[in-house]
Amino acid sequence: MVNKKSKHEINDIDVAERKYLKSSSYKLTKIIVLIFSISFFIVINLILNNKKLSKFLFFNRSFNENKDERVLGHYPYKEISNDDLIEIEANILVHKDMYKPLLKMKVDAEKEGIYLVFLSGYRSIKLQKQIFYSLKSIRNQIATERARVSAPPGYSEHSTGFAIDIGDANQRETDFEESFENTNAFKWLKRNAAKYHFKLSFDREQTSVDYEPWHWRYEGSIEALKIFESSNRKSF
Ligand SMILES: [Zn+2]
Repeated sequence: MVNKKSKHEINDIDVAERKYLKSSSYKLTKIIVLIFSISFFIVINLILNNKKLSKFLFFNRSFNENKDERVLGHYPYKEISNDDLIEIEANILVHKDMYKPLLKMKVDAEKEGIYLVFLSGYRSIKLQKQIFYSLKSIRNQIATERARVSAPPGYSEHSTGFAIDIGDANQRETDFEESFENTNAFKWLKRNAAKYHFKLSFDREQTSVDYEPWHWRYEGSIEALKIFESSNRKSF
């Protein structure tokens, strides 16, 4: 009996409290929420209708968040540690992970009468700085023009050790020239480089940088794939 009574009392209190809320505070809260919701929609609509304001508040921010880190069309790359470099031939250093595939590619090409010549492998950021700024002034070019054919320091694939410039030993006049694409070496590379995990970095499809048929990068290791992930992800 005592239990029943106490239960009954509790129920009474619950009902009484609910009635109290509904009668005053509850109604007031409802009104406040309604006013806030209406005001919120009005403000959002005003902002969205105001192109300048919405661009400033929303689009600029999302644009900046999605904006890639490229400078003049080039992605930033860290300099590889000396411990990871290996000399493939005189003055040509490459990442130790790509040493064997690169050499194998050269040997296999030779078996088919194609003679690849390595023009440039690893380049330090310091050397890239000299190349970029000296060539820029020698050729009387502004940075934007120069960047189409040479990466600014800190933005070259060559500083990763995973990039290699290749020429045709029988047509050295095409070294670093677009005409390299007409050589047997280039035609062989187009057909076979992927087997050795090499990819043309600046093909004709992208428009940020000038076409470089001689410049290949290695993507046969997780480390290399991580380094070039941004470049592979972005559409040009
Ligand atoms: Zn290159």
